[in-house]
Amino acid sequence: MTNHRPGAPGQVKEVTSTANPIVKDIRALAVKKYRDQTGTFMAEGLKLVIEALDLGWTIRTLVIAKSGKANPAVGKVAARTVAAGGLVLEASEKVLTAITRRDNPQAVLGVFEQRYRPLAEISPQPGEVWVALDRVRDPGNLGTIVRTADAVGASGVILVGDTTDPFSMEAVRASMGSIFAVPLARAEAGAFLGWRAAVGGIMVGTHLKGAVDYREIAYEPGPVVLLMGNEQQGLPDDLAKACDTLALIPQAGRADSLNLSVATAVMLYEVRRAALKVKA
Ligand code: SAM
Repeated sequence: MTNHRPGAPGQVKEVTSTANPIVKDIRALAVKKYRDQTGTFMAEGLKLVIEALDLGWTIRTLVIAKSGKANPAVGKVAARTVAAGGLVLEASEKVLTAITRRDNPQAVLGVFEQRYRPLAEISPQPGEVWVALDRVRDPGNLGTIVRTADAVGASGVILVGDTTDPFSMEAVRASMGSIFAVPLARAEAGAFLGWRAAVGGIMVGTHLKGAVDYREIAYEPGPVVLLMGNEQQGLPDDLAKACDTLALIPQAGRADSLNLSVATAVMLYEVRRAALKVKA
């Protein structure tokens, strides 16, 4: 990486070569080390970029396909990027393919600043549910959980311990834009437990040895911290012991367990049952 803010801000540039240093810097964001160094990440698609800007995320660079330039919506996003002090790159198809590592790349992608909410600033209120994920490994699971948390109106997702990066391309893709809508926090297990002890409500863990059917728990009035275990190992004892209840989702067939993101969705729909009603 040559710099933390590629190109001069508030400008429009044309790029046709994958050897261009700005393009190289953006391509490097596929690697966590460079995302960490720059505190940025990539999101693909016009709709996502518009949503991110609407939600106040800071854009560093907007890459647009030359062929998409005539689209008024793309022009508007480019103008917003320049006004926000970002750089706009008009790229050839070859460059977009190289950046996204996809054959049919989207015509628009944005490089945004990462954002975490400090755990200490989170004070769950009655009616809220926060999802806490113990050492989640799979970026597809994490993105899917962020999307589901958004869909049910959960207040945010807390990443506990050493987890996969929520700002990887896979996780961002799987979140389908919800990465911009759902607050994210992260903490080591000890700090998470300290925070949990200081806030109200109940912490419901999910465990294959859980003693309580997940439909029998009184989630109201909350707040609820819903703690989900690692894909391979489940919840470790210290986290399981800190839960007020360990919930089991009953199973009837031969499967050992549910996929983490599926189990999280089942739980979230139960916790948010009262809040989620189809309006007649
Ligand atoms: N081998 C792991 C174990 O022994 O816990 C399986 C973990 S499972 C794939 C990932 C997480 O999803 C679990 O830690 C738990 O939080 C949740 N989960 C999956 N199936 C569940 C079920 N039937 N009841 C409660 N939680 C479940």
